[in-house]
Amino acid sequence: MTAEIEYSAVGYQPTDNPLRTGIAGRCPRCQTGHLFDGLLKLRPQCEICELDYGFADPADGPAFFAMTIVAVPALAFAVWMQMSFDTPLWLHLFTTVPLTLAASLALLRPLKGWLVCSQFFFKAEEGQLVRRAADGSGEA
Ligand SMILES: [Zn+2]
Repeated sequence: MTAEIEYSAVGYQPTDNPLRTGIAGRCPRCQTGHLFDGLLKLRPQCEICELDYGFADPADGPAFFAMTIVAVPALAFAVWMQMSFDTPLWLHLFTTVPLTLAASLALLRPLKGWLVCSQFFFKAEEGQLVRRAADGSGEA
């Protein structure tokens, strides 16, 4: 199933910087409306320009990027703490693990906003097969 995306609407200035618009959690078409209803749940549509967010499907992209970005600093922190203070391993349950979880959760919303705005900006849609017609015109 594909969703039709209306990329333009009269009177609105679509984003030219999906990173900035996504981090701010704003609508990619009008840059005024909100993307989120709560922490991570997308609204059904923009309350200003009525852009249907049905096209937005970042899947597990935000989680992948959050884990990738946080993993190396978290591991470095754990190693530094272990080497510097020779802490018992259980202490990492109260330092490294919460720090890793908090940093990952803090990154999810801006990353999800960035990916949704990028889908709009780059007109990313589900792939479709184009079949050549019998007359060779390329029209299906
Ligand atoms: Zn909007």
